[in-house]
Amino acid sequence: MTIPYYRQSQCDFCGTCVGVCPENAIELAETTLVILEDLCTACMNCVIICPTAALEERDDRKEL
Ligand code: SF4
Ligand code: SF4
Repeated sequence: MTIPYYRQSQCDFCGTCVGVCPENAIELAETTLVILEDLCTACMNCVIICPTAALEERDDRKEL
């Protein structure tokens, strides 16, 4: 299980991902977004909903 990958350069800080996270694992500040690894269950709601594709599912197997 891996938390989503976040690309700050593609994020417009709309906050949509924060609203769909069932674990309250996303913290949005003015210029960045933090996914709290301890809370994230990798449900990928945020990845699916992000309108700018700033969040991406990360597949550990590719990194082996
Ligand atoms: S939904 Fe996407 S663009 Fe909006 S704050 Fe979250 S990561 Fe950024
Ligand atoms: S993958 Fe799910 S639990 Fe993790 S930050 Fe995104 S919406 Fe929240």
